[in-house]
Amino acid sequence: NFRKWDIWQGIEFGQSKPQARRVKFSDVAGIDEAVEELQELVRYLKNPELFDKMGIKPPHGVLLEGPPGCGKTLVAKAIAGEAGVPFYQMAGSEFVEVLVGVGSARIRDLFKRAKVNKPSVVFIDEIDALATRRQGIFSESTNYLYNAATQERETTLNQLLIELDGFDTGKGVIFLGATNRMDLLDPALLRPGRFDRKIRIRPPGAKGRLDILKVHARKVRMSPSVDLSTYAQNLPGWTGAKLAQLTQEAALVAVRNGHESILQSDMDDAVDRLTVGPKRVGIELGHQGQCRRAVTEVGVAITSHLLRRYENAKVESCERISIIPRGQSLSQIVFHHLDEESYIFERKPQLLHRLQVLLGGRAAEEVIYGRDTSRASVKYLEDATCLARKILTIWNLENPMTIHGEPFPWKKKASFVGPRLDFEGSLYDDYGLIEPPINFELDDRVARRTEELLHDMYEKTITLLRNHFAALLKTVKVLLDNKEINGDQIEFIIDSYPAETPVNLVL
Ligand code: ADP
Repeated sequence: NFRKWDIWQGIEFGQSKPQARRVKFSDVAGIDEAVEELQELVRYLKNPELFDKMGIKPPHGVLLEGPPGCGKTLVAKAIAGEAGVPFYQMAGSEFVEVLVGVGSARIRDLFKRAKVNKPSVVFIDEIDALATRRQGIFSESTNYLYNAATQERETTLNQLLIELDGFDTGKGVIFLGATNRMDLLDPALLRPGRFDRKIRIRPPGAKGRLDILKVHARKVRMSPSVDLSTYAQNLPGWTGAKLAQLTQEAALVAVRNGHESILQSDMDDAVDRLTVGPKRVGIELGHQGQCRRAVTEVGVAITSHLLRRYENAKVESCERISIIPRGQSLSQIVFHHLDEESYIFERKPQLLHRLQVLLGGRAAEEVIYGRDTSRASVKYLEDATCLARKILTIWNLENPMTIHGEPFPWKKKASFVGPRLDFEGSLYDDYGLIEPPINFELDDRVARRTEELLHDMYEKTITLLRNHFAALLKTVKVLLDNKEINGDQIEFIIDSYPAETPVNLVL
């Protein structure tokens, strides 16, 4: 049963599958450069004879490289869709069989079919599974199964190379491969005449994410009141696949809530579902627990708002806070992300402000409860400690305190058996250094400075929050009453309760 390729649209054998809507370039967003480059293939597929007449050689193969879920398969389908030609798809892993000869037979068959129905597009996903670097002489292993599998893979790969080389005879077939592990590919595959072109499919940036969201919003009933750009901005690292999942999830939530179309609240719920998990019913924090949670989250949020407002800090503002337990977490805070450039060139003042924001949770607890602090703010404290250490060491923004370039005594020692310590405290084995020596003196200095830095920033944050005690209390109160609060409400509260407002006005 090895003729199971996804024969898209059922062109094969004249099957009368219902015609699925063909993917077009308009379904692909956020990877404009790649699409631009691939347009040429479409032009070729539409009229291969013209290219022939003009003496233009089409590319043999195009390798799409990039992380999963960024649209490699989608864009390959779109090429076939735009040109109106059949699309043959298989995954590299499907060729890898232990049964001898099956993999190469599949390759032969796949290419034969594509040639018969040319012009056409052949797409092999995860091509790295099939075309990993061949091992050469060192793969000699006593393990029989290992050898059989490796040999089989190599035969399959050789067959693929033969097909690619003999491609001139099958003009009119475009061969596309996709991988996210370029480094694993056998160099033979990348030689000219095989994969002539490599196109990187990058994960989308903020603008790309917005374009992708717009594409997928067209496929569901999205209320026009939903501001897609905030989601694009606040979901860094989300791929096209994840964003597609988001709109689907939001549609489900909307149906569950009995809404006619997807509302902002449905989108928020969907984001939370995909990030932390669904709401947990039945789990109710006690009042005390909820208060602590609310105080720490509000402390972090309000510190960022105050710093932005009064110290012109370049830190994220708070988008919303929720103290409804979800998945593993008892409360959530969502930040409004800055534009991507601000992260690349973070400078010392910005990093210190960020540190203050993280310390805001514990500071708020102390301002409200005095020294009786709880575990609620521990996660933020851990993050703060980590950040402070980085500021001092990796980014080296304090005194010039070198941790890189320590003169490690890196010499190979005479051969012994097993790892051993040398006089400077380095760990060696027969092949060289395993661990550099520990510099206890430097370690102490970093620890001391980290503590000092944290302490200084903490004092500043405490002062800030004491000044705005009324706003802090009011925000906590609103959050406790509604279980949720958003950034605009926080801004409004800060406006209404300026610094030094007497607390009795709140209560
Ligand atoms: P890959 O092949 O890179 O792993 P896919 O092409 O299979 O990713 O993407 C899976 C799904 O995610 C697509 O069917 C599409 O719905 C969505 N998607 C991914 N990237 C994009 C994009 N750039 N534009 C629009 N949708 C996308």
